Amino acid sequence: MVRGKEFIDKVKELKREKGALILAHYYVDGLIQDVADFVGDSLELARKAKEAEAEIIVFCGVYFMAETAKILNPDSKVLIPYYKAGCLMADMAIVEEIKEFKEKNPEYAVVTYVNSSADVKAVSDICCTSANAVKIISSLKEDKVLFVPDRNLGSFVSEKVKDKEIKLWNGYCPVHEKLSLEQAERVKRENKGAPFVVHPECNKEVREIADFVGSTSQIVKFVKEVKAEKVIVGTERGTIHHLKKLRPDIEFIPAYPEFTCDQMKMITPERVLRALEREVFEVQVPQEISQRARRAIERMLERS
Ligand code: SF4
Repeated sequence: MVRGKEFIDKVKELKREKGALILAHYYVDGLIQDVADFVGDSLELARKAKEAEAEIIVFCGVYFMAETAKILNPDSKVLIPYYKAGCLMADMAIVEEIKEFKEKNPEYAVVTYVNSSADVKAVSDICCTSANAVKIISSLKEDKVLFVPDRNLGSFVSEKVKDKEIKLWNGYCPVHEKLSLEQAERVKRENKGAPFVVHPECNKEVREIADFVGSTSQIVKFVKEVKAEKVIVGTERGTIHHLKKLRPDIEFIPAYPEFTCDQMKMITPERVLRALEREVFEVQVPQEISQRARRAIERMLERS
């Protein structure tokens, strides 16, 4: 197993040799974040992928993210270190059902969280991320919205955007939903006075007792500026690696011990090395799907 400095040196050498760029999500292994050219959340990574000029983009995140990178940058070769790293929430959105809903309810705008497959994006009017969902939905001319697939982010948005009727798809992230109210109250009791920050993918009752609710990049910004000795982190624990670098003076407590996305953890340092060495696994999106999905993503980028 190649780890530590040996891993970092090998990756750097291969990156140079192949003209590759490594983009990594906050939820992947800390060592991968350390060798990445850029670490970010979905919105930040989509922007980076779009403007990248590299011949090869190694996307260290789950499949839908690599697909988004390919859609926004079709001329680069986009690789995902492990093709089976999917998103359990993304799998909960079914293209045929969305199409059927649209046919029956043409007055609704379909707003799709980027945590979705290219096929689902392709049948959507516009995409959003957890960082810009409120802004995107507020900007729509339609009064009625179908929000796909995350019911928790959708309900968070409905609390903020009062003048739209927002129908929620029944999807969710099992990793964030696993944080129960009981556990959230316990961790708060055990760490009295520590700000409790959560991602909007957590359920409503947990969000209600949080001190701050925001996307991963918004949590990062909050932590940069907060005056505290301890912070309770209500999102995937990979984020703590980045937070610790920003604020080594703060102790970060995961809201529950195994706050971990197993799908993201399928992207291991060994697989990143293999991706660079053998140029696997290449992400392809059929042109017709790509064009329609791109329209929904571009609309989001224009408005955010
Ligand atoms: S944390 Fe949840 S939403 Fe994010 S990739 Fe994992 S399963 Fe999907």
